[in-house]
Amino acid sequence: MRRTGSCLCGQATFTAEALERLQACHCSMCRKWVGGPFMAVPCQQATFSGPVKRYASSEGFERGFCSECGSSLFFHPKGSGLHGIPIGLFDDQTGLPFKTEFFIDQKPGCYAFANETRQMTAAEFRETFRKG
Ligand SMILES: [Zn+2]
Ligand SMILES: [Zn+2]
Repeated sequence: MRRTGSCLCGQATFTAEALERLQACHCSMCRKWVGGPFMAVPCQQATFSGPVKRYASSEGFERGFCSECGSSLFFHPKGSGLHGIPIGLFDDQTGLPFKTEFFIDQKPGCYAFANETRQMTAAEFRETFRKG
């Protein structure tokens, strides 16, 4: 389903084909980037417009943000058709069940989600997504 959304100041906008699910990443980089667990909707065919800045956060990966208000806009494995877009940016946040938590072994002890999710460690994540 085609979904739309925007950043805090409203100048950066997107439309994307959302894979109808919500995921969280507890890795230290994501937590630095958004200030807590990164709760994202995996999307295909995402197009962004407005003051979008890209940051090469690690080899092969980039993260986009609004250069005006600083909102996190996407996490993108370069060369893939995928963008992880924060749930909070979406105009309509319904119909996106919380399915998976990544890097569960890097989650701080001070919080835990009550949702029943598939939880993957850093090693399991790399094992699953290394190929391709
Ligand atoms: Zn903005
Ligand atoms: Zn992460």
